[in-house]
Amino acid sequence: MNFKNISYSCRYFPEIDRFCISQNEKSSTFDYVIKSKFYSSFEYYRYIPGPNLTLSQIDKYLLKYPCECCFEITKSCNLKCRICISDAVGTAKNMLSISKFRRIIEKNNFSRVTLTGGEPTLHPDLYNLIKTSSKKASNIIFSTNGINIGISFLHAQQISHFF
Ligand code: SF4
Repeated sequence: MNFKNISYSCRYFPEIDRFCISQNEKSSTFDYVIKSKFYSSFEYYRYIPGPNLTLSQIDKYLLKYPCECCFEITKSCNLKCRICISDAVGTAKNMLSISKFRRIIEKNNFSRVTLTGGEPTLHPDLYNLIKTSSKKASNIIFSTNGINIGISFLHAQQISHFF
């Protein structure tokens, strides 16, 4: 990849399960990645492919490695943060249905599933969404503002079984 004479290279690092991009960097050792000041933001670069690839080459390249899927399971939220990047709304009714979720999970081989929102604890089928994810994926990331976990011991007890 070449943007305005700056060259970027990309490599998959199994040690941290990340595709990492480096700028004007010949060495692609794990050590370099860990020491890099960009390390904390590598999460956002994981799917940037190598130089001069076509879209189908990128697909092939990515399919060789474990895949992650992030599901926004609801637009509802019990907070109204100004910084919200999901445009979450307190009254939103749209929830990802468990049947659609199961179809996607069963068709794919995700090593990691992220459940986010809005606030995922407002989803009425949360327990089943986590249970379904845990059958296929070895890692489940659950992104919550924590309010419902704190006030509902039962809720916390139910889902803690999977983590
Ligand atoms: S808690 Fe999260 S999802 Fe809810 S409004 Fe705040 S940033 Fe958005």
